[in-house]
Formats: sequence, structure tokens, C-alpha cells
Amino acid sequence: MSKTESKERTFSGLGVSPGIGLGVTHVRESGVVATPEYCILANQVENECERLMKAAKKSRRQISRLRAKARTLPEEVAEEMGLLLDAHYQMLKRSRLMNGAERRVREDRINAEAAIQKEISKISKSFASMGDSYISARIDDVREVANRLLRNLTEAPLKPASMMPKNTIVVCEELTPADAVQFDPEKVHGIATLLGGPEGHAAIMARALGIPAVMGAPDLLAGTKSGDNIIVDGGAGKVTVNPTAKTLEAYRRRRVELLEEKRRLARLRRQPAVTLDGAKVGLQANVELPVQMDLVRQTNAAGIGLLRSEFMFMNRDDFPGVEEQYIILRDMVERMAGNPVTIRTLDVGGEKIAPGLVREFGESVTSALGLRGIRLSFARPDIFENQIKAILRAGAHGPVRILLPMVSTVSEVRQARDILNRMAKRLKRRGVAIADPLPPLGAMIEVPGAALSSDALAQACDFFAIGSNDLTMYTLAIDRSDEQVAKLFNPLHPAVLRLIQFSAEAGLRARIPVSICGEMAGNPRYTALLLGLGLRELSMTASSIPKVKQRVRSMDLVAAEHRARVIMDQMDAGRIAMLLDDFNALA
Ligand code: PEP
Ligand code: MG
Repeated sequence: MSKTESKERTFSGLGVSPGIGLGVTHVRESGVVATPEYCILANQVENECERLMKAAKKSRRQISRLRAKARTLPEEVAEEMGLLLDAHYQMLKRSRLMNGAERRVREDRINAEAAIQKEISKISKSFASMGDSYISARIDDVREVANRLLRNLTEAPLKPASMMPKNTIVVCEELTPADAVQFDPEKVHGIATLLGGPEGHAAIMARALGIPAVMGAPDLLAGTKSGDNIIVDGGAGKVTVNPTAKTLEAYRRRRVELLEEKRRLARLRRQPAVTLDGAKVGLQANVELPVQMDLVRQTNAAGIGLLRSEFMFMNRDDFPGVEEQYIILRDMVERMAGNPVTIRTLDVGGEKIAPGLVREFGESVTSALGLRGIRLSFARPDIFENQIKAILRAGAHGPVRILLPMVSTVSEVRQARDILNRMAKRLKRRGVAIADPLPPLGAMIEVPGAALSSDALAQACDFFAIGSNDLTMYTLAIDRSDEQVAKLFNPLHPAVLRLIQFSAEAGLRARIPVSICGEMAGNPRYTALLLGLGLRELSMTASSIPKVKQRVRSMDLVAAEHRARVIMDQMDAGRIAMLLDDFNALA
């Protein structure tokens, strides 16, 4: 870190990825994007106008979120930011910018991006010619709005992060999972954002990469600039800009303590995950990126309980073919040396965006209630079939299981099984080596309707994986990546717990394995409750395995089951939390 000069300032947000990052701020402008320019045909005009309007609508939604966030700031800052954002919001309605851009699409027959660029340069010239310094300064606002529109039109992720120097702390408005996967943890030592919540996929990616991160810190962007010394405390949810020598020293000490704790926990590697009264628990890893495989091996995970396959589809315009996916998956399967790998088929949707699919299907693939997970797979059977073929081939190198995301009805599982059987036959006919016997086919239980019909689903599935992240989101109607409702996102809500219990029991009755792979599985606070509810397989980010194992080894299963029964009689999430925390405190 360079010498500190300015005054120290602290910002609070949500700690979403633990650890302490010390470094230098790099403010990532959600800035200028390279845009294509091309002519369109007469019959494409309406489509192009619709793209423009959709991008404007999305931009207005983003600004509304920023505006709501700004209200939590001190009064004068809130007022100033509010006015600015109001102005941006208005520009995205029927303004000179929007009207002008639409007219150019219609009259000049050019794409929406080109129309915005042309309109912006015309507005800039006319503002500059007025000779009024206040009006000239407003051009920056118009440009900012136009850049936001262009980003939303092109669905462009932030520019590749390969040029970032070591010790970089990335500060930005909002991060997508596709942005996050580009960060090299050797260089990016911390992330701090204005928007985003702990259960969102960008946060999951930060944890996967082991990069400390704080999200939802409202006044952050106004309070730091590129080049500032900065500390991200991803455990406490604090960001300190221009730390004093004393603060810096305290954080360095804390970082050493955390490393020491990690080393201590790592010694549990060879110890079994067994409760005091002898119940065996399977601790598996969630994997989002191949770089995590070393850590998965180090922690001695009993398998991969959830391989999120989206990483193969991110930051590209085309789709990976069978061979490409097979090579990646085969490598992962081989590295697990006989431990099972649960490969989830593509779960694009919600916030996990693949630009090609957005262009093809529109907003439905970005909506939490739209063409997500298995629904999209059936809408693009070619993509699904290729994935199934690649998994079948990888299954010739070690045990794999196939997991279907966002299942809500039994017929979806049946349809997927038909495709699985058909693909297997096709490959066998061609003499290609595939998994033998065929891999088990399971469903994520993450939609409340699926949980409530889990006894029927259990008849069609070979296993269940409970996705408590989406299950909580859909049960409580709380967007998992919206920091403003993050405090309400509570897997201890009795409704969520009942759904978990119901599906765990349905699976056990049908004698199929049931695991849980949402974020709650990796938090030792919930371990006793989950085991008490009957679950024996927990899948989590690999770095959480040691602390969850420690919790398993410190508790008595009979006592946990008893406490779970008491908890399941409660109506109030606060009381449930108290009963659980009291039980944990006895350990
Ligand atoms: C979940 O929803 O709990 C889950 C594990 O899936 P994802 O977080 O990838 O949506
Ligand atoms: Mg999910």
C-alpha cells in the first residue's frame, strides 16, 4: 500500500465473502462500451425499437434501485444524489435522447446502439455551442445515461480484468457473475459494490474465488476514487478508505489471525465428518469454476454436490459444443478420483445472464420467474442435448450424477429422462464410451411447488438436491440479489424450514438420497438444524467444509434431532433463531 494522506473513512455494507483485502482502489466505471454499428432492414425496425425501449426500461429499473439506495445516505448527500438520479431517470423516458434515437432507428434504419451514439454526439455539439458552463456540464449526465443504455443493449460485461495490477480492490456500482469470473484472485484482493446481496450469484462467485467482498455499501462510490488505499473486510461488511497507519496495522494483525484459524481448521482434513454419537455426514463441495478444484481436493470433500455448469457459457456469444464440455468435465471427474460429481445442467436465468440467449428469448431468460433452468433447456433442446452427451461421456471416467435446475413438475423430469435415454442410445450406437450404468437423474428442490409435491417428484427422481437459496427467495418473495431486502432473506422462516423438512422426508420415504446445496449448507450455524431435519449430505463452497466439519464433530445428533423438533413447532423466525443459537452455544 502506498503512503496514507487523506482522512480515513469507513463505509458499511453487507459482508458477502469473508476475509480481509488490503490494496489500492480501482473504480470500475460501469463505463463506455464498444458498440456495433450496422444497417437494418425495414422489417427489423419494430424489433430494434423494442430493443431500445427494453434497454431504457432496464436502465430505469437500475436507476430506481440506486435512488432507493441513495435515500439511506446522510440528508444532503441523499438530496443531491436523488436529484441527479431523477434527472437520469427522466432522460430515459420520452426525452430528446430517447426520441432522437428512436427516430434515427426508424428513419436512418440503423441499429439502436448506433442511433444512441449519433444522437449523443448531436446533443453534445448543441450543448457546447450554447456557451453556458452549467449546460455544458450536463453533457456528462447525458453521456452517463447513454452509456448505461448501451451497456444494457449490448449486455456487455465489464472489460476483461487481465490488466489489473496486484493488490487491486475493485469498487463498482454492481457486479454480474460474468464480471466476477474474470477476476484473478492473485491480483484482485477485494471487491466492494454499491448494489448486490449475499445470496446473489456475483457474491457466490466472489466466495468461489476466495476474494473478500462487501456489497450494498450505499455511499461508497462517492467516497472513494481510483488510487485510494482501501481495506475490504468481507466478514464484518466494512470498507475503510485511506486507513490510518493504526487501522492498517490492526487489519494486518486480524488477517494473520484469520490465516492461523484457517490453518488450524485445515488440520481437520483427515478427520471424518462424524457426530459425537457416531452419525456419518457427507460433506461435499459446490463448484462454480475449475480453478476451485485444488481447494476441493485439499479439503478432502466427499464429492461435488453441485457443479454449476454456467461457467462454460459465460462471456461468450456462442455455446460450447459437446467436445469442449466433455474435456472440461472429464478433467474434473478424473480429479475427483472416484468421488461422485453432481453436474447441474445449465441454469441460465435470474441474474445469470448469457447474452446470446437474451438476444434470442428476450427478458424472459433474465427474469426470476421466466425461462429459467430446465425451462430454457426444453426451449433450446440442442443446448440441453449437447450437455447431456458431454456429461454421459465424462461419466465414462468416474461417477457422475445429473441434476436438473428449477424443476417444478414431474413431467419435466420425465421429459429430461427421455432425452437422457435417447442421447445414451445415440452415443452407444456410435460406439462412444459413456457412463455405464446411466448416471442418476435428480432434481433441484428450489421452487416451493416442487417442494410441496416432492413425494410425487421422488417417484420420478433418483435423488434430490435442495436449493435453499432459490427456495427461500421464491417462498418469501425476496429477490436474493437485492441488497435492500437482504435483511428479510431468512432461511429460518418457518415456511422455508417446513418445505425443507417436507422434501427431505419425502426423499427419505422414497429411499432416494437427499442433499442440500444452498448457501445455508455452508454456514455452521445451520448444521445442527439441517441434520436434525434428517439431512445427511451437505454441499457447500469448499472453503466452508472445515468449519462445518468442526461443527458436525462437536454435536450430538440425538440432541440435534430433539432441538429440530422443538424448532419445527415454532411459528416465529425470531424464536427459531434463538432456539438454534442457544443450542449452538452449548457446543
Ligand atoms: C439454490 O438455489 O439454492 C442453488 C444452490 O442454486 P443457485 O444458487 O445456483 O441458484
Ligand atoms: Mg437455484
